[in-house]
Amino acid sequence: MKTETKTALVTGGGSGLGYAIAKAFTEAGIQTVIAGRELEKLEKAAFTLGPLCSYRVCDVTHFAALPQLVNDIEAGIGPIDILVNNAGINLKKEFTEVTEEEFTHLLNTNVTAVFVLSREVVKKMLERGKGCIIHISSMAAIYGMPKVIAYTASKAAIDGMTRAMSVELSPLGIRVNAIAPGFIYSDMTAKALDADPDRKARVMARTPMGKMGQPEDIGAAALYLASDAASYVTGVVLPVDGGNSSSY
Ligand code: NDP
Repeated sequence: MKTETKTALVTGGGSGLGYAIAKAFTEAGIQTVIAGRELEKLEKAAFTLGPLCSYRVCDVTHFAALPQLVNDIEAGIGPIDILVNNAGINLKKEFTEVTEEEFTHLLNTNVTAVFVLSREVVKKMLERGKGCIIHISSMAAIYGMPKVIAYTASKAAIDGMTRAMSVELSPLGIRVNAIAPGFIYSDMTAKALDADPDRKARVMARTPMGKMGQPEDIGAAALYLASDAASYVTGVVLPVDGGNSSSY
């Protein structure tokens, strides 16, 4: 995989799946900037990931600051060849208990921020006539799950945006794909599943491989989509799920 000279921005790269993606990228020689809200988390992750990793503190819902983030990375580190829109939040709550504020905040984080950051990065990629964008979707976009209404709306939007962006941008040299992780070990799934053994049993029962995935499984998929090995792949939402989405 010819990835040596590339620069990537991975939002939410300080933990969970984003960290695993940043690890796969740096191990492949990609200069990787991780971004998130918590300085300490980023410092620790960047230290562990080594000299090819740097970080920027940013809240992706502060939309007005995102153009500056992109300019700063391009000026200080290099042209962003790969953008991974990984930062995301979940909200597990009864449908009737979800407030407009909670719904909007989740959509702002999981959808609007993805749009705004992609738009700013795409402006730069268009000048160069190349680039690669990877979104992170979810099983929630594929089948109905109870008590995650805002999250489901957000990830279904990501699938639609993946296709719409791909059809508009791939003729201009920018590939746009998504990964739909199944149930992968992370802080997010620990919160959602550990306190709900019935839900966890249900997840396992419909996962043919009979186990949860590891963050590294998502790192490997992101590295593939980011690499020249996927140079003819665009508009795809790739399940990495132990067969969960094709099960009954
Ligand atoms: P984590 O909670 O472990 O990580 C989420 C990351 O996003 C954190 O590093 C967090 O950093 C960052 N983040 C959250 N909000 C913001 C914000 N406003 N601005 C900047 N950064 C933010 O979750 P996962 O690793 O599990 O999830 C990563 C992605 O994968 C999400 O999009 C999630 O929906 C998706 N996903 C995960 C699955 C799983 O099984 N784990 C399954 C399907 C999809 P900080 O707190 O420092 O801001």
